[in-house]
Amino acid sequence: MADFYDILDIQRGATAAEIKKAYRKKAIQYHPDKNPGDDAAEENFKKAAEAYETLSDPQKKSRYDQLGHQAYTSGGAGGFGGGGGAGGFDMDDIFSQFGDIFGGGGGGGFGGFGGGGRGGQRRVKGKDLRIRVSLTLEEAANGVDKKVKVKRKKQAPGVSYKTCTTCNGSGQVTRIQNTILGRMQTAAPCNTCGGAGQILNNKPAGADAQGMIATEETVTIQIPAGVESDMRLKVSGKGNDAPGNGVSGDLLVDIEVKPHAELQREGNNLHYDLYVSVPEAVLGTSKEIQTVTGKVRIPVEAGIQSGKILRLRGKGMPNLNGYATGDLLVHVNVWTPRNLTKEQKEFFESMMTDSNFDPAPEKGDKSFFEKVKDMFS
Ligand SMILES: [Zn+2]
Repeated sequence: MADFYDILDIQRGATAAEIKKAYRKKAIQYHPDKNPGDDAAEENFKKAAEAYETLSDPQKKSRYDQLGHQAYTSGGAGGFGGGGGAGGFDMDDIFSQFGDIFGGGGGGGFGGFGGGGRGGQRRVKGKDLRIRVSLTLEEAANGVDKKVKVKRKKQAPGVSYKTCTTCNGSGQVTRIQNTILGRMQTAAPCNTCGGAGQILNNKPAGADAQGMIATEETVTIQIPAGVESDMRLKVSGKGNDAPGNGVSGDLLVDIEVKPHAELQREGNNLHYDLYVSVPEAVLGTSKEIQTVTGKVRIPVEAGIQSGKILRLRGKGMPNLNGYATGDLLVHVNVWTPRNLTKEQKEFFESMMTDSNFDPAPEKGDKSFFEKVKDMFS
């Protein structure tokens, strides 16, 4: 069974932009208006939409990657439409995606190919809104609910709409055109209603030509643990309202994780530079370490060498799917003192002649670079 990556003809590591581009290509190739009466094309069209629906959503994609195609699509694990495979995919849902994928913004959007020939009423989707949310590393590690103020257009209280008589509510007017593919029935958004299928019946005071008012709404965004910069989350229905019985757009949330003063992220692992003094390295001590869940105290054994890496398992970043948390790698640096007093200088000079202080690295005292090499091999 072909998986979602095969369906869109992309590699597993494909970026969001590549996924979108691949879907657009398939959607154009298999579009029903380009392949009238071709059931196989329609099936491929639905499959591509189903694949895109999952792979374009970071949370769904993560579940899909984790569970695999079979388990994801057959279980109740968030498979589309309760897991009925591509058959469960509603054509109207697919076309409502097009506002986003084909950059149409509001209504129509789908350039040359419209909804002609399919019949039925298409629901217009309101404009998606975008917002950027900035998180600390701790918030990204633990998940957080962020309240944001969103300026969105909503249907004014008391507004009412009636069916557009020009297009009988379909939002489309059809035309027969001669094209390179032969005679084609094409559709264009209805000029009277702007593609909405409905026109304003009662316009309350203060509403715009579509019956909308500008509002500011506080929206709570549930940010899952493990997010990274450049991920995009979607809050359904929190974009602009559509006129009439259309569906509201979505709120698209771009995640930015701010750099941390002490912890550096590398995938799910975190790195921390620990500095110990010469006497601490010689005699051993314990040190407080910053982690994303608070401070922890770790032992530093007597005779520890600079460059040693201590691994705190499970103290890194959680994976977005909720398990397989990374590690915190503590890099030991022995701090060499500067600006010594005369007495301190003499103290160190007395050690120069003592062979007990001569470097004598053993097997376990590999160089820093060798250790890094081991870690990533
Ligand atoms: Zn109309």
